[in-house]
Amino acid sequence: MSDRTKSDYEVIVIGAGVAGIYQIKLLADLGVNATVLEAAGDLGGTWYANRYPGARFDSESYTYGFSFSKELLDEWHWSERFSGQPENLRYLNYVADKFDLRKYMQFNCKVEAAHFDEANELWRLKISDGRELTCRFVIMAIGLLSIPTPPQYKGIESFKGRAFHTFNWPHEPVEMAGKKVAVVGTGATGIQVIAEIADKVGELTVFQRRPNWSAPLNNGPISEAEMADLRARYGEIFAKCARTPGGFEHEPDRRGFYEVSREERVALWDRLYDSPGFAIWLRNFREIFTDEKANAEFSEYVADRIRRRVKDPVIAEKLIPRDHGFGVQRVPMETHYFEVYNRDNVRLVDISETPIERLTETGIRTTDRDYDLDIIVFATGFDAITGPFDRIDIEGAAGVKLRDKWFDGPSTFLGMLVEGFPNLLMPSGPQSGSASTNYPRGIETGVNWCTNLLKYIWERGYTRAEATLAAQQRWTEHVTKMYSSMLMRKAKSWFTGYNSNLPGHEHGKIRYFVYNGGAPKYVSNINQVAEKGYEGIVFSGSAMPIRRHGTERFKAR
Ligand SMILES: Cc1cc2nc3c(=O)[nH]c(=O)nc-3n(C[C@H](O)[C@H](O)[C@H](O)COP(=O)(O)OP(=O)(O)OC[C@H]3O[C@@H](n4cnc5c(N)ncnc54)[C@H](O)[C@@H]3O)c2cc1C
Repeated sequence: MSDRTKSDYEVIVIGAGVAGIYQIKLLADLGVNATVLEAAGDLGGTWYANRYPGARFDSESYTYGFSFSKELLDEWHWSERFSGQPENLRYLNYVADKFDLRKYMQFNCKVEAAHFDEANELWRLKISDGRELTCRFVIMAIGLLSIPTPPQYKGIESFKGRAFHTFNWPHEPVEMAGKKVAVVGTGATGIQVIAEIADKVGELTVFQRRPNWSAPLNNGPISEAEMADLRARYGEIFAKCARTPGGFEHEPDRRGFYEVSREERVALWDRLYDSPGFAIWLRNFREIFTDEKANAEFSEYVADRIRRRVKDPVIAEKLIPRDHGFGVQRVPMETHYFEVYNRDNVRLVDISETPIERLTETGIRTTDRDYDLDIIVFATGFDAITGPFDRIDIEGAAGVKLRDKWFDGPSTFLGMLVEGFPNLLMPSGPQSGSASTNYPRGIETGVNWCTNLLKYIWERGYTRAEATLAAQQRWTEHVTKMYSSMLMRKAKSWFTGYNSNLPGHEHGKIRYFVYNGGAPKYVSNINQVAEKGYEGIVFSGSAMPIRRHGTERFKAR
């Protein structure tokens, strides 16, 4: 073996968010020589970056946290049912410190390229600090919402005030009292930030192109006694999350939509509207997701709730979506969002009627008029799911680029491997069980599965593992087929790859990004593959268990 075959690391994990933290924990436990490379200045991923006011969970905090350590579960107190960004970031830091994981992490290390060196069966990674690092296995824990997409308006650089995307919200406090603030975008993030800042700014102008369905989060504090009860029930809670399609505690109402009377349906909806979190979405009738008529009836119910909350009927109608039904995309949850429009200092600008023409030195110009502004907040979302992959020059065997292969949309095996890209694993990749569910539940599943695959490889002394094309095609067809029964396929949403700020991501061309079969079915699928000796993956290499040779793979740095 030439020196070139000796890699710097056995495993490099890219990304230090929820997925990267758990992945390095498991590798450290195994004593594997591994490191985490993180582009940002510290760990936390989503919760490190998104510091905008109002950023918080829509997963119940206690179902979001890691489940792997009883000690951790016993120690941590979630202060709110849906906790906010500062607490979420504190939690992830607490986990990293408790398990002494920081020593494996390297920050300000953006991976710019990852090329597979066929001859030596290694990945060669080019890092933003100029280094080249090699590893046998690369684990992409790069997130699915980690590349923000600012809008493409003319004149953005000419604006003399402050302007930032919510993902890049400054780390130091932003003085907003008395200021004229604009929020562009009314998706999940816009809805959170608008509701939080409306009573703290001088004037708030909301630029809305398309309204989104949204319903009350119904957040509240968690007392010591409640936390003690949750701790006692953690086993039960996580077992329930594993049983439900969404990986939450919420279970669908299994009565048929048409089997119960209209009065009973409305009684359920009245209860759900006042219930915490995604209950309104996930404890509902299953037909909401698949049946146009059922969806339309429920959407009209929610529209009425909006009408009751917004005083000006013209504004209320503008806040009610017309181009999609409730729940066909991940539902933004709100806290007093609709009441914001009853305030004197808030105005709604419908940019579907009067589009933004450009930014000027002093603010925003629509086709109708100029708006003078001090601060512009772009809540314009993400290059979701495949964006973080597209930003790395990933080249597999035979010089194939991943971004070319996925140009029209991703194709994967189980959302975790890609044919032609040996030894590259994605614990929560496109078409995996993570994005359409409670993320960390999907992430733990994916990280466990990838780690078991690595153990299988190491125990047998293999040096190369790769999905077959046939297995990948079968999986992608399975994922694609599941979209056909879902109303979601029509939505202008990141679940279908739509993003008006990204060329090639216009409406009308679906990208099959997420696994819609629900968490239990996903887990059953991936477990079956493992039980059949990882059917669909081809292994090669020395076929000698590595521990016998005492190689460097298990030496942690
Ligand atoms: C505002 C907001 C609220 C959310 N709320 C919820 C919620 O309540 N429930 C839920 O289930 N999900 C929620 N999500 C989804 C959230 O992204 C996941 O819950 C989870 O944090 C994903 O963890 P991750 O480790 O996979 O990815 P991330 O947290 O995105 O971490 C990925 C990391 O990889 C790094 N990275 C990317 N590319 C590179 C590169 N080339 N080189 C080096 N490093 C790189 C990034 O800097 C980042 O730190 C929310 C997302 C957002 C944006």
